[in-house]
Amino acid sequence: MKTEFDAELESRLLRYTAIDSQSDPASPMSPSTEVQFDMLNLLVEELNGIGASDVRLTDYGTVLATIPATVEHDAPVMGLLAHVDTAPAFNATGVKPRVHRAYDGQPILFPDAPDLRLSPDDYPYLASKEGHDIITASGTTLLGADDKAGVAIIMTVARHLLASPGIPHGPIRLAFTPDEEIGRGVHPDLPADLGADFAFTLDGGAVGEIEYETFSADGATIRIEGVSIHPGTARGKLVNALHLAAKIVQTLPQATMTPETTAGREGFIMVTDMKGSAATAEMHFILRDFERDGLAAKGALLQEVCAAVQSGEPRARITCEITPQYRNMRYWLENDMTPVELAHAATRAAGFEPRSEPIRGGTDGSRLTEMGVPCPNVFTGMQNLHGPLEWISVQDMGAATRTCLILARRAAER
Ligand SMILES: [Zn+2]
Repeated sequence: MKTEFDAELESRLLRYTAIDSQSDPASPMSPSTEVQFDMLNLLVEELNGIGASDVRLTDYGTVLATIPATVEHDAPVMGLLAHVDTAPAFNATGVKPRVHRAYDGQPILFPDAPDLRLSPDDYPYLASKEGHDIITASGTTLLGADDKAGVAIIMTVARHLLASPGIPHGPIRLAFTPDEEIGRGVHPDLPADLGADFAFTLDGGAVGEIEYETFSADGATIRIEGVSIHPGTARGKLVNALHLAAKIVQTLPQATMTPETTAGREGFIMVTDMKGSAATAEMHFILRDFERDGLAAKGALLQEVCAAVQSGEPRARITCEITPQYRNMRYWLENDMTPVELAHAATRAAGFEPRSEPIRGGTDGSRLTEMGVPCPNVFTGMQNLHGPLEWISVQDMGAATRTCLILARRAAER
C-alpha cells in the first residue's frame, strides 16, 4: 500500500544509510566510534530544521528532542527511539543503497558481488513484496536499514506532526542512541533525560511485529590457574590449564542447550572465546533463557561443571564468575501492558495484524524497561540484518510510519 510518506522515507533512508556509522565493541570510548557523530550531528541539524524543541546531543552521544503536545489535557509522555549505529558484524563502509522500483518478483542481483543473489524462493517475505520499492546495498556492505529505517520513520513522523498542529497528540520525546549493536546504547542517565512514561524502539522486522519479550541474559567468566613447570621435569607436577579448559567445554551439554541446537523458547549456554597457556586460561560464556529460573539453572550448571573439574584436580584453581546482562522485558511489561496494547491496537488500526514473538536477543528496550521506561519494539520492515543481503521495502516503512502516527493520537486519548 502506497502512502504519502513513501518519497520522504526513501530519501531519508538513502541519505542515512550512505553514512558510515558502524560501532566497535573493542573501543573503550563512548560513543565507540567517531563516525557515529556524522549521523548524530546530522540529526541535530535536521531536527532543528523541522522545528523540533529541546534538541540536544548529550555527552554520552544520544540526540534528544521534543515534539510538543497539541492537546490541552495532561497526556502521558510517549518516547520514540532508534539507534544510529550499524552492526560491526559486516563491512559498513561505502554503503551504496540501490532502489528496486516496483519490485518485479525476480531474484535481486548485486553489481559489486556478481555471485550474490537475493531470491524470493529463499525469502518468502520478499516474495510477498511484489510491486513494492525495495532497497538493498550493492553487494559488498550491509545496508544498515538496521536501524536507519527506524531513524527515517521517526524523523518522518516528527516532521509530519510538527507540520500538522491539527493532529491531537501528547508530548512526544525522541531519542537517537549510539552503540546499540554492541549492547552499550542505554546510558544510566537516559531514562531521566528521556522523561517518557513509556516508549517504543523502532527496531523490529516484518510488518505487524510488536515485540515485548526478550531473552534474559548473563555473562560468565571462568579463570583457571594450573601449575606451570618445565616440560622436561613435569612428570607428576604439571597441571595444564588448557586441558582443564577443554574438559569444562567437553563436560557441558553439546547436543542440547547450545545456540545451534535450540530455537523458540529454549535457552542456551555458549562459550564465546577461550584463551590461555599451560599456566593459566580464561574462558567467556553467554547464558540465555527467557525465564529467571531457567537462566539461574544454566549458571548453576556451569558452576557445577567447574566444581567437578576442580575436585578432580585440587592443585588447580578454577573460578566461575557470573554477571547479569539484561532481563526479559516481559517481567516489567506484564504488570502494565498499556504500551503493548497501544502498539497492537495501532497496528490493527493501520490495517495490519499484530504478532508478538519472543526475541532471541535483547534490545535497547530491554534495558530501558528494566530501568523504568516500559519499551516494546515496533516493526520497521527491515530484513536479513547484518549482512550483504539486507533489504527493506519502502512501503513497509510507510506502514510503520502510519502505525506510529496512530500510536501518537491514541496515547493522548487515555
Ligand atoms: Zn537494530
